[in-house]
Amino acid sequence: MAEADKKILVTRPSIPDMDEYINEIKSIWDCMWITNMGPKHEELRKKLSEYLGVDGIEIFTNGHMAIELSLHALGLYEGEVITSPFTFVSTTHAIVRSGLTPVFCDIDPDDMTIDPDKIEELITDRTVAIVPVHVYGNICHIEDIQAIADKHGLKVLYDAAHTFGETYKGKGIGAYGDVSCFSFHATKVYNTIEGGAACFSDRETGRKLGYLRDFGIVDEETVDCIGANAKMNEFCAAMGLCNLRHVDEDIAKRAAVTTRYREHLEGIPGIRLNPVQKDVKSNHAYFPAIFDAAVFGADRDEVFDALNKNGIGARKYFYPITTMMDCYRDKYNAEDTPIALKISKEVLSLPLYPGLAAEEVDRICRVITDCGR
Ligand SMILES: *Cc1c(COP(=O)(O)O)cnc(C)c1O
Repeated sequence: MAEADKKILVTRPSIPDMDEYINEIKSIWDCMWITNMGPKHEELRKKLSEYLGVDGIEIFTNGHMAIELSLHALGLYEGEVITSPFTFVSTTHAIVRSGLTPVFCDIDPDDMTIDPDKIEELITDRTVAIVPVHVYGNICHIEDIQAIADKHGLKVLYDAAHTFGETYKGKGIGAYGDVSCFSFHATKVYNTIEGGAACFSDRETGRKLGYLRDFGIVDEETVDCIGANAKMNEFCAAMGLCNLRHVDEDIAKRAAVTTRYREHLEGIPGIRLNPVQKDVKSNHAYFPAIFDAAVFGADRDEVFDALNKNGIGARKYFYPITTMMDCYRDKYNAEDTPIALKISKEVLSLPLYPGLAAEEVDRICRVITDCGR
């Protein structure tokens, strides 16, 4: 197949050389410990705690369970939670599945994270927490959110699924809020095939998380709380140990892809790119572009279709917003968050992964600019 016709997928998982992984898993056969907090699990937990710059961390079978069980660990079983509908559906599901009521707050049109100026008007005497999402690697308005939470006695749980390895003002992003949750899914900047983590500074929260992800079992005869099963197995932990050795290199390659995209797309009327945030070390997780059809000459769906026709897979991410999904649209009103609703119809996440070649980025951008006037 000619280079120019090669299919480009929106993402590609990072995996180590097969030999490196095989080397890493060999010891599993020596001890025959394949799950339930074995040696790989413990080694990964320690290494992640150092890498992420956090005091406490528990690792999980996936990011979703990390969020759901963190709500439980914070003692949140009823009441209202202020959150953003501009996210992957997991955030909203975790709140609802925990018996909590989501209250949707609109987003800041620039960085697409929850708008702190609109949080306070949503607080009632039933509000118990704020669950903001660091979207596309853009971090939330952390100080403003914490000030509101402190004033009203609310917990803050960050969905940090997109922000692995980022720092804000030199501090690991997982160290903010009462809990911050990462996803280590195959499609994320760092993966353990499937996996996730919850970071915390309060020891009691950590202790509860440890029990909750293992059925609430404290010891053979003591079950302390109504937990679930969300333990990471040794094979996933081994993948995590391998991938952690390469993640800095991966992020550097992502940065180069991002730079190339900016060279082509920056300044084109009708295309808005992700902001570069002050005080943030970015992981270049995603490259969203927002299309203003009236100015650019083509809308998001037309660009998406043109890319598709050229064998390029972009993703309408996040579309629809969670309040538009079939399971939620009768209960919540997407019009309550007009900015989130509008951006969800204009945004397209372009292909981005460490091995994406400069020539491929050039090809993608040619298709995009050809759509415009
Ligand atoms: C990926 C993701 C999750 C869920 O993580 P999993 O590891 O897939 O369970 C939650 N929130 C956001 C914003 C995500 O992107």
